[in-house]
Amino acid sequence: MTLAGYECDVLVIGGGIVGLATAHALRAARPGLAVTVLEKEPAPALHQTGRNSGVIHSGVYYRPGSRKARFAVRGAAELVTFCAEHGIPHGTPGKLIVATEPEELPRLHELAQRARRNGVPVRELGPAQIAEYEPAVAGIAALRVETTAQCDFAAVARELARLVRVRVNAEVVAIDRRVGRGVAVRTACGEVLRARAMVNCAGLHSDRIARLTGDEPGLRIVPFRGEFYRLRPERASLVRGLVYPVPDPAFPFLGVHLTAGLDGEVRIGPNAVPSLAREGYDWRTARLRELVDELAYPGVWRLARRHWRYGARELRRSWSKRAFTAGVRRLLPGITEDDLLPSPAGVRAQAVLPDGTPADDFEVTEAPHTVHVLNAPSPAATACLPIGRDIARRLLSTLA
Ligand SMILES: Cc1cc2nc3c(=O)[nH]c(=O)nc-3n(C[C@H](O)[C@H](O)[C@H](O)COP(=O)(O)OP(=O)(O)OC[C@H]3O[C@@H](n4cnc5c(N)ncnc54)[C@H](O)[C@@H]3O)c2cc1C
Repeated sequence: MTLAGYECDVLVIGGGIVGLATAHALRAARPGLAVTVLEKEPAPALHQTGRNSGVIHSGVYYRPGSRKARFAVRGAAELVTFCAEHGIPHGTPGKLIVATEPEELPRLHELAQRARRNGVPVRELGPAQIAEYEPAVAGIAALRVETTAQCDFAAVARELARLVRVRVNAEVVAIDRRVGRGVAVRTACGEVLRARAMVNCAGLHSDRIARLTGDEPGLRIVPFRGEFYRLRPERASLVRGLVYPVPDPAFPFLGVHLTAGLDGEVRIGPNAVPSLAREGYDWRTARLRELVDELAYPGVWRLARRHWRYGARELRRSWSKRAFTAGVRRLLPGITEDDLLPSPAGVRAQAVLPDGTPADDFEVTEAPHTVHVLNAPSPAATACLPIGRDIARRLLSTLA
């Protein structure tokens, strides 16, 4: 590959919601800038962006001052406005975070305090008030978050894709960066594209793209599949809005929740099980090379050793529909196994540090002519607009 002459100013690798929001922010900041998004699939948003819960999180859960907290609060409001302005279906049903056991009450109270510190208004409810919102839900206490909204993130991504330049079927397989001379990338069909700078928004593959660039990310993407069921349509009236359990603070996942979607379908999930491939949407999909690579990473073993109990419970709920149903019945006692129908899964790109700790915050690093987005799990879809602006600001300062 040679670096003489540039096809564009910035190449963005990855046509998920973060890459597309970044391209949009770059164009908004510098209207003359030539930005191209390279997406390996035949269409944008086919991975995390198109396979999630569709919830615009209001910012309850995240450590005050963290990027997740700041960007979720700001991003949620901006995304609702974006949906309204671009005719994308959305709604603001609000949500309940429900404690079902007395030992969850201190954590629920801590969440209320955290939400308030993040500027998110919440109300603490007792069982009678829970029943007013969700008559079929069992709980001893709850938090009511009025501002939690929903939208179709894939529709948001498609709208962003309409506003920027996207090349699909363009898988980046090699990258050559020379300091002072920009970046050249080669796609799987042998085409070489040159740019002054590059942004890595490759989601489940972002650590590999960083390594292709010659940068050591210092973490590893570990794919955690989130499996869903949906309620039989005749039983969908059991859930009116969004109902979440009290999350386990040791994990960046929110726990299996009930989501009455904009289309009236109630989805139940996601759990969190290790995936046998980065794009492994079921147990049958395994990629030996990816597995070997993952198992060679000490962080994975340390994570497994520390959290094997949680992992074993999640595996049981993945392999046994009865166990999954029993877990859900704590929140929704009226359902049976027969009420749950299969629904497509998603895979989260969760970065894990070498000591086995799951990266807690969004992780964005800078290198010459390059910005890498190395950890953008939930609520990155909610927060995509401020994340995109943050990346654009960092990249433009390297181009100045
Ligand atoms: C089960 C589940 C539930 C979730 N629920 C929510 C929620 O309710 N609310 C919320 O805010 N967030 C939620 N999230 C998180 C949210 O979906 C992600 O944070 C967000 O979609 C990340 O977007 P992304 O653009 O970084 O990644 P992706 O959407 O995965 O996009 C990355 C893109 O890069 C492309 N790519 C990869 N490698 C290459 C390459 N070599 N060349 C070219 N292209 C490449 C991929 O094909 C892909 O399209 C959930 C996620 C999951 C999995």
